[in-house]
Amino acid sequence: MSSPKTRYNCERCPAYCCSYPVIELTKKDLRRLAKHLGLSLKRTVKKFTELDDEGKTRIMRHRRDEHFGSVCRFLDRETRSCTIYEGRPEICRDFPGTVRCGYYEFLKFERYLLKDPDHVATTYNQP
Ligand code: SF4
Ligand code: SF4
Repeated sequence: MSSPKTRYNCERCPAYCCSYPVIELTKKDLRRLAKHLGLSLKRTVKKFTELDDEGKTRIMRHRRDEHFGSVCRFLDRETRSCTIYEGRPEICRDFPGTVRCGYYEFLKFERYLLKDPDHVATTYNQP
């Protein structure tokens, strides 16, 4: 049985999903990331992650971004693509998990309203 065709195009999107403030990392994600980067687990955790506000969960560090306020520090802010694609965490692999992406629907609607196929509709997350 063939899988359903997706109704979104990440190559036409500025990567809203990478602006989500809490990009959770499991132990398995951390090990995979360390291996991908060729660094020790300890150094990877220290350099690229931080604890969430409750101090319980490891999350990706962010950095400033012109469109969304902040984005995952592994997003290339020019090309809007993931720089660690093969080493990205499970949560990124699974998203959006459906045929449609809500962010992309929003983007398409804004582009349609403005009659501008290249418009980048902004959202803003607090860093
Ligand atoms: S927000 Fe949706 S369409 Fe945009 S990059 Fe992420 S998954 Fe792809
Ligand atoms: S790891 Fe890659 S796909 Fe996941 S949020 Fe960061 S830049 Fe986006």
